Amino acid sequence: MIQTKGYAAFSATTDLSSFDFTRRDLGAHDVLIEILYCGVCHSDLHAARNEWNSAIYPIVPGHEIVGKITAVGNLVTNFKVGDLAGVGCFVDSCRTCPNCQEGLEQYCDTGAISTYNSLRLDGKTQTFGGYSNNIVVDEKYTLHVSDKLDLARVAPLLCAGVTTYSPLRHWKVGKGHKVGVLGLGGLGHMAVKFAVSFGAEVTMLSSSANKKVDADMLGAHHFALTSDAETMKNLTMKFDFIINTVSAPHDYNTYLQLLKSDGVMVLLGAPPTPSQIHAFSLLGKRRTLAGSLIGGIKETQEMLDYCAAHNIMSDIELIPMDKINEAYERMLKSDVKYRFVVDMATL
Ligand code: NAP
Ligand code: ZN
Ligand code: ZN
Repeated sequence: MIQTKGYAAFSATTDLSSFDFTRRDLGAHDVLIEILYCGVCHSDLHAARNEWNSAIYPIVPGHEIVGKITAVGNLVTNFKVGDLAGVGCFVDSCRTCPNCQEGLEQYCDTGAISTYNSLRLDGKTQTFGGYSNNIVVDEKYTLHVSDKLDLARVAPLLCAGVTTYSPLRHWKVGKGHKVGVLGLGGLGHMAVKFAVSFGAEVTMLSSSANKKVDADMLGAHHFALTSDAETMKNLTMKFDFIINTVSAPHDYNTYLQLLKSDGVMVLLGAPPTPSQIHAFSLLGKRRTLAGSLIGGIKETQEMLDYCAAHNIMSDIELIPMDKINEAYERMLKSDVKYRFVVDMATL
C-alpha cells in the first residue's frame, strides 16, 4: 500500500482536518500521481457537509487535480514518469454500457466512480480525492496536461472547465447566440471565458453588484444585477441560452422568462433542495430546461487541449491546505475570485 497524507471531513458539522490513509499499490494499468495542486469546487463543500445526503465519511474531497507522474504500472502505454497529468471528477466506470462506449463515462448506466465519496467497482474500497499528496488512477481516467500553462490555474479546468465547456459544445453555442451566465463563481467565470471564446454575446447575470468589473475583465459583454427588477424586466426573452451555475436554491421560473422562443436553460448548479417549475415558464415559448454533468474523458482532454491552444486558464486564489475551512466559508458568501486552489506543497 502507498502512504498518503490528506485532509478529510469526518462529519457534516466539523471542520476538515489532517488524515493519513493508504492508496492501493499500482496495478498494471495504473499511474501514481504526485499531486501539486487541487482546486476547491462547491461540490466539495456540498459533499463534505452531506448536503446531498450521500456522505461516506471520512471524505477526502478534491476533483480538480493536477500533478506529476512518479510511477507507472507495467502495461501503461499513454503516460511515462515525469509527465504532467490531471484527474477530474471520476476515476472509473463500467466501460461497457452505451454511454461508456461513447465516451460519456459521466453518464455511465451503473454510475461512474467518483474521485471521492464513492466505492470502487469492487463495491468495498472507498475513493479519496485530491486534498492529498498522491493518487493512484487507471491511465484511461487520467488526462494529459500541457506544460505551457500555469499548473495551479489549470487545476480548476478538470471540473469547472469541462462542466461549462461540455454544454456549450453540446448545444453548439457560438457566433450569433446571446448567452446569459447565471452566477459568477468557479463555474460561472469559466462559462464566460468559453462562451466568449466560442464567439457568443455574453451577459453576466449576478447577484453581486461588486462583480461587474470582474465580469468585464473576464470578457463578458454585458452585466446584469439579478436583484434589479427593472434590469430583469428588460432582459425578458433576450437569451438563446442560460448557463445556470447557482449553488443555492433559487426560483428557476425567474430566469426561464429571460429565454427567447426555443431557448435553453442548462442547469449546472446542484442546490441541495428542489425547485418548483411553472408549466407556463416552458410551454408558452417552447423553452427547454436541461441539465449537464461534467464531461467525458475524451471531451475533457479536448477541453484541456483547447485551453492550451487558446491560453485559457482559471482565475485563482492559491491557498495553503490549512486554510480550507476558511475558504469554504468564503465560498458560501460568494467571496471567491474565482476559484480557490490548494498548493499541496503546504500539506
Ligand atoms: P461557487 O464558486 O460557489 O459559485 C456559485 C455562484 O452562485 C456564486 O458565486 C454566486 O454568484 C451564485 N450564488 C450563490 N448563492 C446564491 C444565491 N443564494 N442566490 C443567487 N446566486 C447565488 O460554486 P461553483 O464551484 O461554481 O459550483 C456551482 C454549483 O455547480 C454547485 O452547486 C456545484 O455543486 C455545482 N457543480 C455542478 C457540476 C456539474 O457537473 N453539473 C460540476 C461542478 C459543480 P453571484 O455572486 O454572481 O450571484
Ligand atoms: Zn466540481
Ligand atoms: Zn458505463
